[in-house]
Amino acid sequence: MRMSFDAAIVGAGPAGSATAILLARAGWSVALIERQAFPRRKVCGECVAASNLALLDALGVGREFDRRAGAELRRVALLRGGDAVVAALPGGEAKARRWGRALGREQFDTLLADAAEAAGATRLQPCAVQTIEGGPGAFRLRLRPSGVGEVTIAASLVVAAHGSWEPLPAERDEQREARAASDLFAFKANFRDAAIAADLLPVLSFAGGYGGMVVADDGLATLAGCVRADRLQALRGALPGASAGAVVEAMLRRECAGVRDALAGATRVGPWIASGPLRPGVRLGQGDGVFRVGNAAGEAHPIVGEGISMALQSAFVLAELINGDRGRLLSSASAGAAQRRALAVYEARWRRRFAHRLRVAAVFAHVAMRPALARAAWPLLRRWPAVLTAGARWSGKTRPVPEAARWVGAA
Ligand SMILES: Cc1cc2nc3c(=O)[nH]c(=O)nc-3n(C[C@H](O)[C@H](O)[C@H](O)COP(=O)(O)OP(=O)(O)OC[C@H]3O[C@@H](n4cnc5c(N)ncnc54)[C@H](O)[C@@H]3O)c2cc1C
Repeated sequence: MRMSFDAAIVGAGPAGSATAILLARAGWSVALIERQAFPRRKVCGECVAASNLALLDALGVGREFDRRAGAELRRVALLRGGDAVVAALPGGEAKARRWGRALGREQFDTLLADAAEAAGATRLQPCAVQTIEGGPGAFRLRLRPSGVGEVTIAASLVVAAHGSWEPLPAERDEQREARAASDLFAFKANFRDAAIAADLLPVLSFAGGYGGMVVADDGLATLAGCVRADRLQALRGALPGASAGAVVEAMLRRECAGVRDALAGATRVGPWIASGPLRPGVRLGQGDGVFRVGNAAGEAHPIVGEGISMALQSAFVLAELINGDRGRLLSSASAGAAQRRALAVYEARWRRRFAHRLRVAAVFAHVAMRPALARAAWPLLRRWPAVLTAGARWSGKTRPVPEAARWVGAA
């Protein structure tokens, strides 16, 4: 096994695999390190916004995505209690492929990780990163490959793409101490024969949480959402012995007519899966010399379904910045200073591009989760459903992605 790389990328979700593809193609030696074996299910609403479809082309997986994904999502519905408001989703700017579509993460993430390997990245999987030591120009990563003891690899540059729901093992104790009632726990289940129109994206609002439903690939519906820790605890207290997924499903069927109707004739496929705690926010500026992409850089409340967009787009922002300066970033004489300078530029670009989405998503999430706010907003939405269309626009769904044009034909 090769033990030394130009770049080590921690995590093969969309952010990590996209970064690996872009760096490997530009000639970097890349280790893409992923803890789990693929394909694997992942808690996610699985909707990919239209603004990313050109990026998928540039990554070499656009055609396969088009072949496998569910129908174009042209309408959004907001469901609360027995009420529903339906509005058009805004189309993207491209003439073709103007709407987002959904693809199960077991397929989406595998497609991207396979493309990274095909581009030349060394895929270490399943293999967990235990610690990252050293600094720019001379990192050491302690890895635990499945079935083998421990291995240490060296990398000049490190990209953290391990998401936000699983801290690196060395950070676990820190997170365990800081649990709060406002922490969110996320859930997902898949259903066959759910009664959801193929072009509709129903968004759910309920006390202490929010969620969404969609028909993804192969007609399989995804139901995913987030519930505050205090609400989850109360639900579990009322149904002792039941799993967290079972109490969430029972609550959604009881409190949300749209879910009850959609699932009336449906059968669940596989168990509920859960993750968390989620703490949306920015995670940059940690001073450790590590570049962060995707959720590891910052997480928007998933009510807006923009996490995959931010994962892919942050990978392009980073690759555009560092690919042109590879020599200085990797040379033993200049790596430390050059990487720290590039990190400052990258983090400023990240904030300019994404910080606004986090703020918009936080406003939507708090309105959706708090009954008094949701009740106050409802008459407005009923009267002007176009506010939902505008909301999707504010959350970044149709924002042009400048890299899309620059990388056309790169695959
Ligand atoms: C309920 C819910 C619904 C959502 N719906 C949508 C939606 O519809 N559309 C959308 O765009 N976004 C949605 N999101 C957000 C989206 O899922 C995330 O933003 C996205 O997965 C982030 O991608 P990533 O590559 O940064 O991280 P991840 O997808 O989390 O990938 C990180 C990878 O790193 C690996 N890893 C972790 N620790 C280690 C380690 N120590 N060593 C090696 N590997 C490691 C993990 O196994 C994982 O595969 C939703 C989120 C939730 C919670």
